[in-house]
Amino acid sequence: MTNADHTGVTVPEGDGSAAAAPGEHAPVSPDWTCGSCGADWPCEVKRDRLLSEYGADRAMLSVYLGACLAAAAEDLRGRGSITLQERFFGWLPPRPKKE
Ligand SMILES: [Zn+2]
Repeated sequence: MTNADHTGVTVPEGDGSAAAAPGEHAPVSPDWTCGSCGADWPCEVKRDRLLSEYGADRAMLSVYLGACLAAAAEDLRGRGSITLQERFFGWLPPRPKKE
């Protein structure tokens, strides 16, 4: 059988093992800092990667970030002054104009 598993959503999660691989720049809960560089997630390296990973598929990237935002909101609820929406979406470059 050579049927590929097409679920429609590709989430970069490695093999699902507990520890994030070095250089993976995966979020670490409950603080949602980067597991590789310690910056607030998504860190600059991760942002770069997400943009090249999802490319023009901004809708899918938003779905992914939205899922992360929801999980982070659970973890960070009531303990921060940071606007998570701003943190997760504020860094995105302006959407290119469609001609
Ligand atoms: Zn990082």
